[in-house]
Amino acid sequence: MTELADRASAQVARRSAASASLRHAYNAIPPGTPVRLAKSTSNLFRFREAGATRPAALDVSAFTRVSHVDKGARTAVVGGMTTYADLVATTLRYGLMPLVVPQLKTITLGGAVSGLGIESTSLRNGLPHESVLEMEILTADGRLVTAAPGSAHEALYLGFPNSYGTLGYALWLTIELEPVAPYVHLRHVRFDDPGEVMAAIEQIARDGSYLGHQADFVDGTAFSPTETYLTVGAYSQTAPWLSDYTGQRIYYQSIRGPREDFLTISDYLWRWDTDWFWCSRAFGVQRPLVRMLWPSRYRRSDVYRKLVAFDRRHGLTRALGAHRGAPPSEAVIQDVEIPADRAAEFHEFFAAEVGMSPVWLCPLRLRSGQSWPLYPLRPDQAYVNFGFWGNVPLPRGASDGHFNKRIENKVTELGGHKGLYSTSYYSEEEFWRLYNGPAYARLKQEYDPGGRLSDLFDKCVGGE
Ligand SMILES: Cc1cc2nc3c(=O)[nH]c(=O)nc-3n(C[C@H](O)[C@H](O)[C@H](O)COP(=O)(O)OP(=O)(O)OC[C@H]3O[C@@H](n4cnc5c(N)ncnc54)[C@H](O)[C@@H]3O)c2cc1C
Repeated sequence: MTELADRASAQVARRSAASASLRHAYNAIPPGTPVRLAKSTSNLFRFREAGATRPAALDVSAFTRVSHVDKGARTAVVGGMTTYADLVATTLRYGLMPLVVPQLKTITLGGAVSGLGIESTSLRNGLPHESVLEMEILTADGRLVTAAPGSAHEALYLGFPNSYGTLGYALWLTIELEPVAPYVHLRHVRFDDPGEVMAAIEQIARDGSYLGHQADFVDGTAFSPTETYLTVGAYSQTAPWLSDYTGQRIYYQSIRGPREDFLTISDYLWRWDTDWFWCSRAFGVQRPLVRMLWPSRYRRSDVYRKLVAFDRRHGLTRALGAHRGAPPSEAVIQDVEIPADRAAEFHEFFAAEVGMSPVWLCPLRLRSGQSWPLYPLRPDQAYVNFGFWGNVPLPRGASDGHFNKRIENKVTELGGHKGLYSTSYYSEEEFWRLYNGPAYARLKQEYDPGGRLSDLFDKCVGGE
């Protein structure tokens, strides 16, 4: 018992020392110098302009690990810059996992809480920030505070999701975990009408199962509005066979094949990472010969993202396209949430006006029964997240923003919301109307009166 207590107090002391040291480093940066987290990975799709001022980098390597797992209480204390790959590898050893595990291995807990995260447990468990019990935050004005429901910093706790590191940085987070089974039993159900897909999602939201299959996990893949698959996953103690999509076989293609499948829990959680959903296609990785030659350790989302960042920095694809006389194209890389009862309308609009395929569908419903001020989804409403990531050729005479602006307008018209990890084209006035400007202004005044960190509009729309 004393040994356990000693270990716990040593962990608390190590965490406090790491936080104090980061606070010291932060406060030593001269006012006016932009700041960034020194992380080796990112899943943002906003790229810094060449020649932009290089911000001072904060060394956050002390916050890249799980500090403690309490198996009985089903909680963990986790550094804010811990990747979900590391977090899940640790918790699975205890037969537990976070309530929502975003699909890309290098998304970090702090990134998913200060941005937004979603996955196929989101219809049951809401969004990652809803299973955070408390957070230690280094505020933009250089204080260390603990934000939790009912605490003096409750407003910061509630306003942190969708603040994207503009109010401060989450250093240690205490999160809830849930027990897992060793396997996931998948059923892929085909629909040829978008309205029927959304009706099935609303039914699963009500009943927690579909055609007798327990819906522990639900997501969907739309190859077109007339060919959409809902994948309903149930925890399973047994598996009559196991599939493996980390080698030559490709997960998203398997969805069109046999209607039933089994994966280990770990392979299930990372099923989308190996091929970055389907986006590895752009690098030829889905051609059998290239796939065979491409080392398996490099079939990962973070490797593809680094290739895209390199390409954007050097303008390679753009230059090649111009050389070949190809029409200019626009990057349309977004995740949007649409109320489930308007989602079929969005899907038909998207297919007709943008025409990109496949599209990822992920249903969600807030778990906590309350709204989160900076991303005001309605607690009583099921939504469907549409994820689409690719380039679309621009019509003659159209310029960058053509498709993204239409999507933004449609999302607003349908009562939806758009995540901010990628490009946005909103006017400042519209942005603050959609993302609760008054609540944000109050938080900024309280935690960053000197404007030490960028403001949310400047960061997410202006690309600061
Ligand atoms: C192709 C693609 C598909 C995607 N699909 C999904 C998906 O299916 N599910 C999903 O959940 N997400 C998805 N995302 C979005 C992704 O989750 C968000 O971009 C997320 O914010 C990235 O987290 P990160 O840890 O990589 O953070 P980073 O990219 O490093 O940072 C993101 C932002 O968060 C801030 N930040 C990072 N850590 C902290 C912290 N500890 N405290 C405060 N602020 C911090 C940074 O300042 C930055 O502004 C997708 C993105 C892409 C490009």
